[in-house]
Amino acid sequence: LVEEAAAQKVLSRGLPQRFSAHTQRPAPGSYDYLIVGAGFAGSVLAERLASDGGRKVLVCDKRPHIGGNAYDHYDDAGILVHKYGPHIFHTNSEDVVAYLSRFTAWRPYEHRVLAQVGALRLPIPINRTTLNALYGLDLQDELAAARFLADRAEPCDPVTTSRDVVISQIGSGLYRTFFEGYTRKQWGLDASKLDKSVTARVPTRTDTDDRYFLDRFQAMPLAGYTRMFERMLDHENITVMVGTDFADLKQEGLASHTIFTGPIDEYFGHCLGRLPYRSLEFHHETHDARRLLPVGVINFPSEDVRYTRVTEYKHLTGQVHPKTSISYEYARAEGDPYYPIPRPENQALYRQYEFLARAQSDVTFVGRLGTYKYYNMDQVVGQALATYRRLKLRHEAGKAF
Ligand code: FAD
Repeated sequence: LVEEAAAQKVLSRGLPQRFSAHTQRPAPGSYDYLIVGAGFAGSVLAERLASDGGRKVLVCDKRPHIGGNAYDHYDDAGILVHKYGPHIFHTNSEDVVAYLSRFTAWRPYEHRVLAQVGALRLPIPINRTTLNALYGLDLQDELAAARFLADRAEPCDPVTTSRDVVISQIGSGLYRTFFEGYTRKQWGLDASKLDKSVTARVPTRTDTDDRYFLDRFQAMPLAGYTRMFERMLDHENITVMVGTDFADLKQEGLASHTIFTGPIDEYFGHCLGRLPYRSLEFHHETHDARRLLPVGVINFPSEDVRYTRVTEYKHLTGQVHPKTSISYEYARAEGDPYYPIPRPENQALYRQYEFLARAQSDVTFVGRLGTYKYYNMDQVVGQALATYRRLKLRHEAGKAF
């Protein structure tokens, strides 16, 4: 209770106004680096270049805020919500935790998800509790659950698609219940048309561990993600321009090097064609109740329900408040780019853009959209830290930094 009260105190403080849109244009050559995007990729690189490298950095983001997709804010009821859907921090990288811990304290949080199947709410990833509740069984141990799944598995050779991965491990019955509809809604494609990496991310367990992630470190930034980003970018060598598109700055020669964390195909004017992305839409609601859901997220695998999942943010943030806010998540074909769509032909097109990128010495592509790959937050932090080390080595080899 003491911890919750302390978190509540930090959470309810107002956010500084430092990161508003700038009206004055900087002069050409004012900066060493122009960083496009103030999400994890852009903010980590800005922080490293400014505070470790002593470089002058301009960060722009076309959205009216910093934080990228991890942006959180207080809604009208005063509840901390994630504007672009639930973001749960989890990692096995001690380096990434050590780095981010310079800018935030943490609130331990282990994420749990239930899937709504008819009237039942069942743990996901599938575990022994899921199997027992779904089929009215009493599988007592891991061996019994493993045998049950092995009896259902339908071997595929080779395993190439997302459908193959699931069917070959747990069979078509469980595939239809938990994966088929959800994947079609989420990606607008049947799992048989998607790279195996999509469903390979969701394991099946024979024990009763109902945590969504098993990483050694699972926690949320105590005062939220945006506050953590504010601390990262709060340096005299960093200027932040939100509400500013790269397109409006690129001709102005503000910096000798650009770090681009937006979509790589957009940088090249889609000259080789558009890389496909899946988009999302969120409907946020506040309710006059302390709690609505038993866990942070309920998934809806059935195609009869249009949204894919519902999130109740107070589970994630630990905020104490008489009301609660939830969001419904709908996958969309059009809109902001969220997820690169993992299909071999898209990867081939990305490789062509990557080839163009290699020929440019004055721009570096980083992040989920810059490298067209589904990355978790910790992976993007790791990628940005590695990119910084490369830029620094380049400098040590006598090149501009
Ligand atoms: P982004 O956060 O997308 O930042 C890129 C920024 O660039 C954006 O702010 C954008 O506005 C800006 N930009 C793009 N083009 C331009 C331009 N032309 N001019 C100016 N600015 C531009 N990861 C986890 O680890 N755990 C989770 O639970 C989790 N949940 C997720 C849930 C959802 C719904 C989504 C979509 C992702 C989730 N992720 C999660 C992944 C996480 O969001 C990413 O790993 C992380 O945000 C990537 O950071 P980034 O900096 O690469 O990209």
